[in-house]
Amino acid sequence: MYKLGVDLGGTKIEAILLDENLDVITRKRIPTPQNDYQQILDSITTLVLEISENIKNYSIGICTPGAISKQTGLIKNSNTQCLIGKSLKEDLEYKLGEKISMENDANCFAMAEAIMGAATDFDLVFGVILGTGVGGGIVINKKLHLGRTNISGEWGHHTLHRNGNRCYCGKYGCVETYISGPALENQWNKLTGESKSISKILPYIDSDIGKQWKNEFLENFGYGLANVIDILDPDAIVIGGGLSNIDFLYTEGKESVFNKVFSDLVDTPILKNQLGDSAGVFGASML
Ligand SMILES: [Zn+2]
Repeated sequence: MYKLGVDLGGTKIEAILLDENLDVITRKRIPTPQNDYQQILDSITTLVLEISENIKNYSIGICTPGAISKQTGLIKNSNTQCLIGKSLKEDLEYKLGEKISMENDANCFAMAEAIMGAATDFDLVFGVILGTGVGGGIVINKKLHLGRTNISGEWGHHTLHRNGNRCYCGKYGCVETYISGPALENQWNKLTGESKSISKILPYIDSDIGKQWKNEFLENFGYGLANVIDILDPDAIVIGGGLSNIDFLYTEGKESVFNKVFSDLVDTPILKNQLGDSAGVFGASML
């Protein structure tokens, strides 16, 4: 039985075909059509057909941005907004003529890192995405824990500051509005008037304003993950997404988390991902 995984991202769609030993047979990536649901469906279908040419027996897993409503089957809370309210799973099954499994990017990331990445030695793994959005997924003994309504792990929309920043989800003060890439860039803009990407901000974190920006980031990161540890007490936390390359998250960031956990014994490993950009597509193939 072969495993075919598709990662539908904001900028690229990637597909991969693995054999039964999880060795890669083929992989291919194309740009994501912007703001056009029909074109996204067509692109995924073409990619699946191309990559599975001459192969009969395979499962298909898809990694999507956003959560899938257990009640309606529709995509909700996606930052690729043309997917919101669409029945992506059903529409793709119709186009492909096959049953598929579908999970959000954070769940796929957590699966991939728990099964073949940074957290293979741990039973209860909390996978964190810190990038354009903030998400999370829980894997227990190499199986996804989805929860009663499919929203477990969604720490990005925990309220961090009750009268804080407005979030696209309709609430105020969500974790995502403070420690996602765009939120951190906005905060830099508020402090300095400059529009800079995270990688252009990082060289300035030793300046006075840079220190302020970094401290706020560390405080918000600390409270966000300390709340997760208080409730879940995972064996390991793995960080993925664009911001996972920021080294101070694993030193001062970890310290900030530990200082806020309700316990005198905190030693949760906070690990950098090993699979990088490929976690989504590998996780999808393991659904
Ligand atoms: Zn929110």
